[in-house]
Amino acid sequence: MQLLKEAIREKGNVLSNDVLKVDHFLNHQVDTNLMIAIGLEFAKRFENEKITKVLTIESSGIAPSLMAANKLDVPLIFARKKKSLTMNNNVFVSQVYSFTKRETNDITVSKDFLQENDRVLIIDDFLANGQAAKGLIDIVKQAKAEVAGFGIVIEKSFQDGREQLIDAGYRVESLARIHSLENGQVHFVDELAK
Ligand code: 5GP
Repeated sequence: MQLLKEAIREKGNVLSNDVLKVDHFLNHQVDTNLMIAIGLEFAKRFENEKITKVLTIESSGIAPSLMAANKLDVPLIFARKKKSLTMNNNVFVSQVYSFTKRETNDITVSKDFLQENDRVLIIDDFLANGQAAKGLIDIVKQAKAEVAGFGIVIEKSFQDGREQLIDAGYRVESLARIHSLENGQVHFVDELAK
């Protein structure tokens, strides 16, 4: 997605060979026009998949998911990273190791919001080693619902998350695929041969 690639090039900061900071438009300050465009693109790519719910993780997954769910005319659910006092024990729980925080956290979704006949589109801001994706798949499976595919804003293709999801048979739609972040430069997969 050209707009997104331009934002990454112009406003992203390469922190190391494997971490990209995008606080200017996605992870802290949010570019709402870009988020709307991203959401519409996800909705277009999954329009024939009979999606009944969009599932993401708080907090950075919410902005790019909102318009996708709106356009697909389905609810958006975000998994919580901290169990709220108002949540009872009627929840699905899974464990996710965070690539950026280097810690394992429980993620929680109320059983009220995922049912057996749901076809779920999972959306997240980044795909790195696939840990967040794995936790969300686990929650969908606990609900006996079905994962219809993944919408990823930024895939770091040099890490193995994508491969794991493809090997497990899932459809993965990533709007920007990064081949490498070496020497402080962003190189996209589709620009390699150019
Ligand atoms: P994974 O679970 O696939 O290993 O990592 C994905 C999660 O870690 C995303 O939800 C995202 O929050 C975070 N993450 C992974 N890599 C990066 C990165 O390079 N930059 C930022 N900002 N977040 C990342």
